[in-house]
Amino acid sequence: MIAAKSYAAQSATTPLGPHSFERREPGEHDVVIDILYCGVCHSDIHQVRDEWGGSIFPMVPGHEIVGRISRIGSQVKDFKVGDLAGIGCFVDSCRVCNSCKEGLEQYCETHLSQTYNGYEQDRKTPTYGGYSSQIVVDEKYTLHVSPNLPLEGVAPLLCAGITTWSPLREWKVGKGHRLGVLGLGGLGHMAVKLGVALGAEVTMLSSSASKEKDAKRLGAHKFALTKDPEVLKGYSGYFDFIIDTVSAQHDFDIYLNLLKRDGTLILVGAPPKPNDFQAFSIIPKRRRIAGSMIGGIKETQEMLDFCAQHNIVSDVEVIPMKEINNAYERVLNGDVRYRFVIDMATL
Ligand SMILES: [Zn+2]
Ligand SMILES: [Zn+2]
Repeated sequence: MIAAKSYAAQSATTPLGPHSFERREPGEHDVVIDILYCGVCHSDIHQVRDEWGGSIFPMVPGHEIVGRISRIGSQVKDFKVGDLAGIGCFVDSCRVCNSCKEGLEQYCETHLSQTYNGYEQDRKTPTYGGYSSQIVVDEKYTLHVSPNLPLEGVAPLLCAGITTWSPLREWKVGKGHRLGVLGLGGLGHMAVKLGVALGAEVTMLSSSASKEKDAKRLGAHKFALTKDPEVLKGYSGYFDFIIDTVSAQHDFDIYLNLLKRDGTLILVGAPPKPNDFQAFSIIPKRRRIAGSMIGGIKETQEMLDFCAQHNIVSDVEVIPMKEINNAYERVLNGDVRYRFVIDMATL
């Protein structure tokens, strides 16, 4: 077994602290990754605090992982020792269901092995995430990372990046489209960068005027203050797509009415309570509400390659491991532009 160091939560009510555990020895198809950086996703906090129920403790969070391969199994074909590698939100899936066969492993119909707070395919070995010194993963679920980008900025691409990339590609958003991005946080700032790079006209929809400067710096062509009804009137029936990244409760009707005929409101943020909306916000213009969850291995690699080509990374604040509990409080206060990333050398 491999002795791993980490930061873990021992229960839903205790702060994260140092924790030792063992990783499996690499199997024939596994790679061992020495973790260099791990992003801090808002869902880490939900799961550490058991806000979605069913959390598995002790929990080592982290699913935005970048590191360097230090060992490989005898049958590994696609990676060699010394390569950079990334791991996103899952480390395995059933491999035989329709979704897995189509390269949409995130929608595995049998059992998705989440990177942490989940179980391996045996359904009894818990998975532990990236707030740790190493991780052992099958090469099929491991991504290639370009050495040409700053690695701390690459880590959040593995969740925030792919979560916004996948719907942009699914709906073929690009030149000639007007894309609205609702909410400027970890997801929103990636949606702006990727939408612009794909050629869409991008409008940042935000309730906070102080975000206008940042939205423009990130590349947004326009900024619409959602608190101002007069501003919103000007965008009535305007967008082909709106990516809705807001996880707080909010009014869908307002944003549905900003869509053109056949426009789509794409949800990637998950408000805690059910949302209602007027049927007549969608019927007369054949509008749609859709959802999208992270992305498959193939499209995650496509996204990483696209980002390397277009020089796109996440805006990050690098923190030492011991700052994690404080960083969680700052995430909850919206006090991060736009992602914390842990420097795992400080573990
Ligand atoms: Zn995440
Ligand atoms: Zn499957």
